[in-house]
Amino acid sequence: MATMYYDKDADLEHMKGKKVAVIGYGNQGHAQTQNLRDSGLDVVIGLRQGGPSHESAQAHGFEPVSIEDATKAGDIVHILLPDEVQVGVYEKQIAPHLKKGKTLSFSHGFNIHFKEIVPPEDVDVIMVAPKGPGNLVRSEYVKGGGVPCLIAVHQNPSGTAKYTALAYAKGIGGTRGGVIETTFAEETETDLFGEQAVLCGGISALIKAGFDTLVEAGYQPELAYFECMHEVKLIVDLFYEGGLSHMRRAVSNTAEYGDLTRGPRVIDKSVRKEMKKILEEIQDGKFAKEWVEENKAGGENFNYLRRKEEDLLIEKVGKELRQKMHWIDAK
Ligand code: NDP
Ligand code: MG
Repeated sequence: MATMYYDKDADLEHMKGKKVAVIGYGNQGHAQTQNLRDSGLDVVIGLRQGGPSHESAQAHGFEPVSIEDATKAGDIVHILLPDEVQVGVYEKQIAPHLKKGKTLSFSHGFNIHFKEIVPPEDVDVIMVAPKGPGNLVRSEYVKGGGVPCLIAVHQNPSGTAKYTALAYAKGIGGTRGGVIETTFAEETETDLFGEQAVLCGGISALIKAGFDTLVEAGYQPELAYFECMHEVKLIVDLFYEGGLSHMRRAVSNTAEYGDLTRGPRVIDKSVRKEMKKILEEIQDGKFAKEWVEENKAGGENFNYLRRKEEDLLIEKVGKELRQKMHWIDAK
């Protein structure tokens, strides 16, 4: 079991007299920056001119500066841009101003772990990664709580990189929820695997396969939608609150018996074997290389795949049905 760090294990004094430059004011940027400010830390925001997030930073009482100026001013430079744009911005606007003794910081390990960004040896390199979306990072902090965080140290010329990571985590409320120490490799590989095999890839494919099986057998698509997509939320909420056992206590005995005897037939040995392959492609850098090249090529294949999924029957049926379910905040 992992060691957990809480408020008492982290000291904001470590950040005293230091300035935090947060680069980007999007999902994570707005939340982390506002939390840092409310924790009494000295923050400056670095943004490109004229982008939409400039206005929202101003609306929250900040005066954003250019990415170059923020990097120059910051002792800790925390990059919160989309992972696929970080490399270009880092090379042109951040790297030239990363002087000895500064700390370069991230909320996801991808670019450091896969060596897309190779920082100078005389800067500390850390990660503080909240395990939740930005809006929750902000709303929990405001309520007095905090979203759990992962921290990691990649480079530590100062010898104090871990204290910086813990202090940053405390500043955004992470030590209220609990902080786990990891490595850039472990965070990156588990994060990619989770989103590919289970959270985004696995569950979408499972839902589509179930929906198609019913529709191809002649059942009405609306019923297939309710059974295979809509009700997933009810089940996931039970997992979230109390794990597998809580879900099994809440459903009927028939459902539980079907789960225990049929589930392993759906996710059988061949699926587990494929999951191992997917993990290997993450570990050996094959996936990262493919994704970096996809972006360099302009994302043509990515956009094609996106559009194809938007045209699926399950998406059309779902849209119709959700319009009549007024308690759902339709997207
Ligand atoms: P966002 O997509 O929300 O970042 C948007 C910000 O990046 C805006 O300020 C935007 O500025 C700026 N930006 C976008 N493109 C460019 C560009 N080409 N040049 C300069 N600025 C640009 O990112 P997230 O907050 O989702 O992710 C940030 C980091 O946090 C990533 O490393 C991600 O992996 C990590 N993370 C994200 C989580 C999440 O909840 N989303 C959870 C945990 C970690 P503008 O308004 O000018 O476009
Ligand atoms: Mg993740």
